[in-house]
Amino acid sequence: MAIINRIADFHGEMTEWRRDFHANPELGFQERRTSEIVAEKLAEWGIEVHKGIGRTGVVGVLKAGNGTRRIGLRADMDALPIVERTGKDYASGSDGVMHACGHDGHTTMLLGAAKYLAETRNFDGTVQFIFQPAEEGLGGAFSMLDDGLFDRFPCDRVYGMHNMPNLPVGEFSIRPGPIMAAGDTFEVTIQGRGAHAAMPHQGIDPVIVGSNVIIALQTLVSRTVSAQDALVVSVTEFHAGEAFNVIPDSVVLRGTCRTLNMEIHGELEEKFRRVVDGICAAHGATATVDYKSVFPVTVNAEDATEHALSAARTVAGDGRVIDDTAPLMGSEDFAAMMQAVPGSYILMGNGPGASVHHPEYDFNDEALTHGASYWSTLVEQQLAKA
Ligand SMILES: [Zn+2]
Ligand SMILES: [Zn+2]
Repeated sequence: MAIINRIADFHGEMTEWRRDFHANPELGFQERRTSEIVAEKLAEWGIEVHKGIGRTGVVGVLKAGNGTRRIGLRADMDALPIVERTGKDYASGSDGVMHACGHDGHTTMLLGAAKYLAETRNFDGTVQFIFQPAEEGLGGAFSMLDDGLFDRFPCDRVYGMHNMPNLPVGEFSIRPGPIMAAGDTFEVTIQGRGAHAAMPHQGIDPVIVGSNVIIALQTLVSRTVSAQDALVVSVTEFHAGEAFNVIPDSVVLRGTCRTLNMEIHGELEEKFRRVVDGICAAHGATATVDYKSVFPVTVNAEDATEHALSAARTVAGDGRVIDDTAPLMGSEDFAAMMQAVPGSYILMGNGPGASVHHPEYDFNDEALTHGASYWSTLVEQQLAKA
């Protein structure tokens, strides 16, 4: 094991920061306290600070030597609208808001690495510390990019990390190529014609049409893509009617599509609309489809993944790094940053316990030194002094 000794020295300090963030969670684009603390600490360590990037984002810039190589390290800062049930003494003090995805730990690990790298400066080049707001579906990565993130803070490669419950602490897991799925959302309003429930022939029943649409959408998965390619279509909401004896005028369906394949993703919206419009037309109903592509596929570049693997193996040891992890069907908005700059996204063990987004989930403080050592090693290796 090669946890950096100096980072192990401030494990206690990092644990305090993490628990303070945990007790004071903030939802996406409301991370004012969090980003203020991040900015203060970076400044205290002599790192150049830029606030308000993508609304509540912060970027720290640290240069050492004369090198022109540049690396971006990204952590997310936001919490979720969940009522916490961990029972910890540092549990959320903010009703209905909870760090249930471990972004408190992500922010802390990147701060730990920043403190170490500012102190030791054992590299040659520029590190951009990217503290991103609003990862949980609100588009924080996009808002930082819209604010000119990589024009103002250029990076040759950009890296991300997420904790992974039930992967042992001290282990890492990664793969080149797609690692997280694209995530789209849809809202379909089906307009039929209301009628008395006893005389359905006088109307166009949108409940029947909606039911057929839901079934037909599953053929996108089973009959339009190869069985070896991953696609998920989930209709998660079906809103219809208000009385047992009235056929409603319209219904609303909502849900999400996920895929790891960019080609499939490119054609998905068109196929989706064709199925919905076709089924509705067959029944004499009409549909309004609001289809949004929220997250692109998270694709790890080959060379950046080699750098990530090397750093992870240095920190964890060869046997504790999985280099061909199965991709996840969840989505991650860091994908947008990696569309702009090649990079790699790694998963880090959080040990046994509840999964992310669960009210009993908690980031494991034992993982802090592993993550901060990974970040620091990545910089020292990729921006190695000549
Ligand atoms: Zn999350
Ligand atoms: Zn997360």
